[in-house]
Amino acid sequence: MSLDPLQSPDVLDVLDVLVVGGGPVGLASAIEARLQHLSVAVVEPRDGPIDKACGEGLMPSALRSLAALGVEVPGRPFVGIRYLDGRREAQARFRAGPGRGVRRTSLQAALSRRADELGVERLRAQVRTVDQGREVVTAAGRSARWLIAADGLHSGVRRGLGLQGIEESRRGTARYGLRRHFSVAPWSDYVEVHWSPQAEAYATPIADDLVGVAVLTRAGTAYDEALQAFPALLARLRGAAPVTDVRGAGPLRQRVTSVRQGRVLLVGDAAGYVDALTGEGLATGFASARAAVHSLAAGQPQRYGPAWARETRRSRMLTTGLLALTRHERPRSLLVPVAARLPAGFAAAVDLLA
Ligand SMILES: Cc1cc2nc3c(=O)[nH]c(=O)nc-3n(C[C@H](O)[C@H](O)[C@H](O)COP(=O)(O)OP(=O)(O)OC[C@H]3O[C@@H](n4cnc5c(N)ncnc54)[C@H](O)[C@@H]3O)c2cc1C
Repeated sequence: MSLDPLQSPDVLDVLDVLVVGGGPVGLASAIEARLQHLSVAVVEPRDGPIDKACGEGLMPSALRSLAALGVEVPGRPFVGIRYLDGRREAQARFRAGPGRGVRRTSLQAALSRRADELGVERLRAQVRTVDQGREVVTAAGRSARWLIAADGLHSGVRRGLGLQGIEESRRGTARYGLRRHFSVAPWSDYVEVHWSPQAEAYATPIADDLVGVAVLTRAGTAYDEALQAFPALLARLRGAAPVTDVRGAGPLRQRVTSVRQGRVLLVGDAAGYVDALTGEGLATGFASARAAVHSLAAGQPQRYGPAWARETRRSRMLTTGLLALTRHERPRSLLVPVAARLPAGFAAAVDLLA
């Protein structure tokens, strides 16, 4: 008697989805998969609530995504975005309700709890290779029908599959992000983006006694040195003790040639990244996780590419446009004054990102 292939132990052991990377977008993908009644495991080499260089501002749409996953996060609400250049300022409230500053470790812990509650399997390993067959894809010794790669900005899965796009060689223009936390009561209910001629610094209220300050700048600039360009922000931080080490990430710009290859779907930063300037990486990452899982649950993986493009278009266009504009000295110096003079236009732009 021949064994029905569908009944063989090997096939029964095949998961619906294997997620590579247990950061916020990987965990969101796994939770979404369980909510769609799919079997899922997450492969992540690091233990405990993982920390990462991030501005930690969750846009209103990111909060809505988390709520839909049944994830509640602590933190401190912020009502909108304020731009400052040392002389002028412009601010706009989100019409969609507040965002929230949330420590990465708290976000990670909340997602992890929800994943455990829903029975997501965990594998502690670093994925080195991905093997795609006709029926299954295998990584870290586990096979699944589909693999969701959520392994971040420098995704090894993306590189291994040859999906890394070519970076145009504008020497010296690659941007990096650095962040640190300070023990100080937030002085504002807005995320403040401070502009200097060379860099941006943004301050996110995270708790009643904690503010995160992320600096976006060129390679080779030390955090403390970069902060010197923002006297108004330094004045706010005077006497406030730094309570975390400086963490960095970059180069931020990562291009991909495709967000899907066969049985592998790229989500979050692994699917490409423009810049942290507009602070919606988590919001678009959660949207990509939802789009990926829904396409798989519907048996229509080919829908993922167009869905990813649709979900991320607005943020990619706004971030690319803002970066292009502010790369040049004159428009950069005019940005805050023009935003202050045209509050309705600034509010509309802020709402597009919310
Ligand atoms: C300075 C800075 C400020 C930012 N500010 C904001 C902000 O204010 N708001 C916002 O929404 N976004 C912000 N972002 C963007 C945000 O941090 C990212 O979009 C978000 O972390 C993407 O999540 P992810 O899960 O895709 O990737 P990650 O958070 O990078 O997680 C990837 C995970 O994959 C794991 N991994 C890597 N390789 C492997 C492997 N081979 N095998 C198994 N696991 C692997 C890693 O250990 C990690 O846990 C900022 C980014 C930077 C750099």
